[in-house]
Amino acid sequence: MKTLFVIPPQWYPMNPYLSGAQLVGQLKAKGFDAKTRDLNIEFFNDILNKENVISAANKAEKFYNDFLPEFSTGGYCEEYFDTYSRKLQTKILRLMAYQEFLESGIKVEEVAENIEDAVSVTKDKDRFYDPEQLFWAKDVMRDALRIISLPYMPSKIMLENFIANPVYTYNYDDIKLQVNSPDLNMFVEYFDQKIQPEDFMEFSVIGISIFDLSQIVPGLTLAKYLKERTNAHITLGGNYIFKIREAIKNMPEFFDVFCDSVQLGDGEISVVRLVETLQSGVSLENAYSLIFKNSEGEIIETESAPLLDMDALAPPCFDGYDFDLYFSADTVIPMQLSKSCYWAKCTFCDFYTGQQCFDIKSVNTAADEIQSLVNKYGCKHFIFVDEAVPPKYYDQLATEIINRGIEIYFYSFARMEKSFTKEVLQNLYNAGGRFFCWGYEAESERVMKILNKGIDCSYRKTLLENAKEVGLWNHCTFLLGYPGETKEETEATKNVIRNRNLVDSCTPSNFALKKNAIMINEVDRAGLENIKDNGDFHISCNYVMNGKETRNIKKERMDFQLDFLKKTADSLWSIEFTDTDHILLYTSKYGAQWVRDYRLKYRKHNF
Ligand code: SF4
Repeated sequence: MKTLFVIPPQWYPMNPYLSGAQLVGQLKAKGFDAKTRDLNIEFFNDILNKENVISAANKAEKFYNDFLPEFSTGGYCEEYFDTYSRKLQTKILRLMAYQEFLESGIKVEEVAENIEDAVSVTKDKDRFYDPEQLFWAKDVMRDALRIISLPYMPSKIMLENFIANPVYTYNYDDIKLQVNSPDLNMFVEYFDQKIQPEDFMEFSVIGISIFDLSQIVPGLTLAKYLKERTNAHITLGGNYIFKIREAIKNMPEFFDVFCDSVQLGDGEISVVRLVETLQSGVSLENAYSLIFKNSEGEIIETESAPLLDMDALAPPCFDGYDFDLYFSADTVIPMQLSKSCYWAKCTFCDFYTGQQCFDIKSVNTAADEIQSLVNKYGCKHFIFVDEAVPPKYYDQLATEIINRGIEIYFYSFARMEKSFTKEVLQNLYNAGGRFFCWGYEAESERVMKILNKGIDCSYRKTLLENAKEVGLWNHCTFLLGYPGETKEETEATKNVIRNRNLVDSCTPSNFALKKNAIMINEVDRAGLENIKDNGDFHISCNYVMNGKETRNIKKERMDFQLDFLKKTADSLWSIEFTDTDHILLYTSKYGAQWVRDYRLKYRKHNF
């Protein structure tokens, strides 16, 4: 019985994702045959070429010329937009997107001529490490994706996201409509050509890993194709799927159209159990943490998998991966030291949802695993994808890495704990740590208390100073406009971002009301009103706060972000969502100070 794990678009195409490799590692350790196929990276490589850019531009131009006469005489106006059919709304938005593109000054022929060279820059060891060439290449790739999206607008594909057509909701019926509509969803045509039944015939089980909203439309389009064209048992899993489990339980038809089962929570034990269950031919009721539809049409949820012992897990298996496909000259290998978050109390957060209670590998096991991945794949760059690793543990792991003489560079997310002393940070740097993503969130201590972040805010500046002094790059995550935050408090957080003395790069976001976060039960206390579910397949809700709707709150953040990005356009990285692997590669090659000081001569135009 052979199993395939598929990573569907859209996800960052910079480096491999962990989930498939992690599950393959567990199945192989139990003697099962399994492999991963990263359809996300295949997709980006398939579409970013000259022919595709030209054909998309021609298609978009034809649509524009066909629809423009009707648009010019139809008397359409913004005031009545909501009264138009969704088909017409889509056409109007598509036409406006094309007009904006024409005004942008981007030249189709130039992008088409350059796109293949741009992709090759990101994979070439010399050219990748020349910032002038790298940032030119990223702009060309972004321009190309904009052109490729034009025939499907307002749905669009980007390096950092896939935005589904906003005229349609994330409710079941609208998603079903999109996965069947080549006009709305570029993945219908793509998978139609890509998915050949014979390529999948050898697999008895196909797992599709969905860990982000950006994968819902493409991932479900793929699931439907595989269910229709193969005889394999199709199972959906991933952190995102866990977060929408309650909606799925109420959709019996979902199991006729998209999959045979849904795997909940951590998959390491339950996937092995699912394969054993299918192989032995007994009822799926014997599988762990599974939702499926039985022969009577009832939705069944099986017993939860036993708790994982992180030390008992096999290492991830990246055998068969073609690392050359990824848009980074050197591979950054993902590895997980722990499950869940050791704090798990921040009121806005749902990151750890779907993971069991906190457990972490022993320092020895973690060091063995790092060593084995280095030996097996010849890689020396790592991201530890943990929600947060305790400082004391990190200090011990760093010492072990140094004592064993393992030569690696790494980065990870971390809480701004006081126990990240200068000595610990120095030890981490000596072990190969090159940057950390610190959860700074809000400048105001009052707001940090409401967030329940549980850190001593007065230490944050010292921590960042110390980190900078030992040679680390400081990337911080910020949260703007938390419920109850005053204008002045939001401004204070923005000032920390603007003052780049200690924060080298950052990811700002506005508060999102997530269905699985603690805050969802405290909306009245937080002053949130008009709570509206964003749909069955969406993990957050819209709300009104201080008279402002979610979209206006988001727009304020986007305006701030755009302004800041333009002002810092000659820096390599300032606000960053997708390129953290590239920051690691640059800081490990040149050092944080070199990256900090470098000023681009190339003028970025995509923000
Ligand atoms: S925001 Fe970070 S520290 Fe807070 S609960 Fe989430 S993962 Fe843990």
